[in-house]
Amino acid sequence: MNLLKAGLIASLTLGTSAAIFLKPKVVEAHCRVYHPHHCGTNDIRNLPNQIPKEIDDCINGGGCSLPADEAWGEAGRIAYTTGLTTIAAKNSTLPAKSLSSWQKEHLRPYFGNLVDRVKIKYGATTLDNWRVGNFRISIPSDGQTFCNDIYITQRYNRNDRNLLSLITHEMVHSLQCERLGGASNFGYKYFKEYKRANQVYRNNKLEREAYDFAKKFNSEYASLERQISSLGVALDANGGQGIPYQNTNINRNNHNLHWKLIKYQDYYVLRPRVRGQVALSANGGRGNPYLHPLDHNHEHNLHWKLIKYQDYYVLRPRVREQVALSADGGRGNPYLHPLNNNHEHNLHWRLTPVGSYYIISPRVSESCGGPCPF
Ligand SMILES: [Zn+2]
Repeated sequence: MNLLKAGLIASLTLGTSAAIFLKPKVVEAHCRVYHPHHCGTNDIRNLPNQIPKEIDDCINGGGCSLPADEAWGEAGRIAYTTGLTTIAAKNSTLPAKSLSSWQKEHLRPYFGNLVDRVKIKYGATTLDNWRVGNFRISIPSDGQTFCNDIYITQRYNRNDRNLLSLITHEMVHSLQCERLGGASNFGYKYFKEYKRANQVYRNNKLEREAYDFAKKFNSEYASLERQISSLGVALDANGGQGIPYQNTNINRNNHNLHWKLIKYQDYYVLRPRVRGQVALSANGGRGNPYLHPLDHNHEHNLHWKLIKYQDYYVLRPRVREQVALSADGGRGNPYLHPLNNNHEHNLHWRLTPVGSYYIISPRVSESCGGPCPF
């Protein structure tokens, strides 16, 4: 897929151009003096060679005492760290943006706090044309990653699914960079593996990992999408129709349906995303659907026991252990029905994770094949 082809294609091509690179400082100085607006590859390709001769000979077939993959690795260190400086210079006027909250939400379960560390430049100029000895390679790329700095050629687009997939691929390279201990080691490893893959970009072990990961992410995303669209109705934190305040507008970006489950001893506090200062109360109250102000999560009325039942959960309030939240209306606040050994389908709720939140939907709506007539 062209979009995902992005990856670290620059690194690949950087590798092939290793023999003609300078050390970062020299490149920068040259660009400033001779090419202030275009510190690109075409500008620097004829600069003197800073790669040790032995390595240069290995790569360009001039006789070699080092194993070939080793030589490529050593050249890669220089190419990658030089490329890092070059691409930074080429894109110095662009703002380095953090991931959006939407992007973080989807990627945090996979990457943890790395989502807070990477910076992205959109609309970036990538390093696409490289020359090594007699080789000339020109491959356009959609994105390139230099450890925590990601360069994406397209403009930022809010909640863009394809962009998210591309970022997923790139972030695997950020992860690899951290795992390997920084840019120099990443450059070494990347080009060593590139050589070992017979100089086929896509077969590089580090690329395969990134492609496989993005594929897994895409498939899980699509499967969750199908799952969410089949939910029918879900508990809505901002009013809505039905009992108890269930909404049929089911999509993963409907924030009214997102609940944070905050563990408190053996219980959970259910806090709606859209109203961070309240939580679902078991003891009536005002507002929809019976939301009470949070008191540092200590209030017993806000504590729910989540009892696993097959693929579902029964939501039992701490203050009234003989009842549970019912999906089918009823009396009491907020629609609590007597427990019947947890078997009652009206008391079964599905918890579907969406990033760090959950959509809470009743089992009984699933049997309707869509919204049930609550
Ligand atoms: Zn890649």
